Amino acid sequence: MKTKGHCLCKSVTWEFEGAITWQCYCHCDDCRRNCGAPVVAWLGVPLKHFSWTGNKPETFESSAGVYRHFCGNCGSPVGFEADHYEGGMHRYAASMENPSDFQPTFHVNYGSKLHWLGLADELEKHGSTLAHSDKDLSAYR
Ligand SMILES: [Zn+2]
Ligand SMILES: [Zn+2]
Repeated sequence: MKTKGHCLCKSVTWEFEGAITWQCYCHCDDCRRNCGAPVVAWLGVPLKHFSWTGNKPETFESSAGVYRHFCGNCGSPVGFEADHYEGGMHRYAASMENPSDFQPTFHVNYGSKLHWLGLADELEKHGSTLAHSDKDLSAYR
């Protein structure tokens, strides 16, 4: 199975082959500001199954070892990598070719959720990040 996606102007395109490792919402302030959105929907995939298929993105190091990729033409965020998630590429669900295929199963950084954002779901809610916790997402199959 191939999953594809693209930025707003479609010059940066990407695809990956195989299963998505995890799908979640992140409520952290960095993700929100990066996207100008109240919450960001993410999917994690193994880097070895991922490729950029159009123009390569630009990269902004938002904090030490954290790399946020964006389209140099239209400015859309198109990906995330971090030293602490080695071997993984994080994709924005909203940039998938079919965003309705996204199936989130949990929230991270729920403690930072904006009070005016109403979400009615029964998904697992983690108050902070899972990095370095017992449910660490850094193992990419
Ligand atoms: Zn673009
Ligand atoms: Zn975040």
